[in-house]
Amino acid sequence: MTRVTRLAPSPTGSLHLGNARTFLATWAMARHGGWRVILRIDDIDTPRVKPGTIQGAMDDLRWLGIDWDGEPTIQTHRATDHAAAIAELIANQKVYPCICTRKEIELAASAPHAEDGGLVYPGTCRDRFASIALATAAAGRAPALRLPVPDQVFKFVDECAGERQFDLASEIGDFVIAKPDLSPAYQLACVVGDSAAGVTDVIRADDLLASVPRQVLIYDALGLADCVPRYTHVPLVVGEDGKRLAKRHGDSRIATYREIGVPPGRVRALLSRWLGIDCGDTITADEVKGRFDLRRVPREPIIFTAGDEAWLRSVN
Ligand code: GLU
Repeated sequence: MTRVTRLAPSPTGSLHLGNARTFLATWAMARHGGWRVILRIDDIDTPRVKPGTIQGAMDDLRWLGIDWDGEPTIQTHRATDHAAAIAELIANQKVYPCICTRKEIELAASAPHAEDGGLVYPGTCRDRFASIALATAAAGRAPALRLPVPDQVFKFVDECAGERQFDLASEIGDFVIAKPDLSPAYQLACVVGDSAAGVTDVIRADDLLASVPRQVLIYDALGLADCVPRYTHVPLVVGEDGKRLAKRHGDSRIATYREIGVPPGRVRALLSRWLGIDCGDTITADEVKGRFDLRRVPREPIIFTAGDEAWLRSVN
């Protein structure tokens, strides 16, 4: 069976060296193994979608030599599938309505910050309302829908990050799968999109490790346990302060390097070194594909240094 993976950019900002490294890893691992690669635009966070970023992401990927099979899929075009999945979870009583505000959750949270930076929901509305209608009547507004997590430890083996475990009650907590307007949360949209596309392998940065238990629980709740993909989480690219690459670390957008005349082979060379590939000042996409070896991908966070930035720009 052909393995299938996906490039899943969020069009809420431009591709920078951090996202580009993840996409190069995904592409190289897949093409090295002869897998299918699809492009999925993760645009469900509609208010934050910035005009031009979808086209920009595609241009940046192509410039780096990263290709995909077939037409891109757009998450918001799957509204019918999202609604069907939400309706199924409601009908099978796999989710419950929650009327808590963010402030209430903050006040009640026993463990204020989960590993992924979110709050662990203390379960206030679990077993509280017999139906969505009763929750709506009690709050005077529509509720969100949460999937309850069992009180157990979830263990899995990540292809890159190794053996991992999460205590579901204290580290994950019941999580939102649909917002009050019944639009899907990222976790649900991701599972619906991946399962519909037959994705066998999810490759992304390790800031999303805590999404694994949530997504596996959704697969189970939808009766799709056989479709759970293999997970490969590569270390996050951070600035010299150890924080996730962002604007404060300078302008590391792929489009900027392209505009100032840095050749793509040079950007690929930096990204490739971050994937444990030995290379000189330039490397072709074919060479990245040929030399990619997951065993050589560093297991520690990748630090984008001022020296890297100066080296990248030194061709000008
Ligand atoms: N769209 C997400 C991001 O850009 C990736 C989600 C995923 O790979 O599951 O962070």
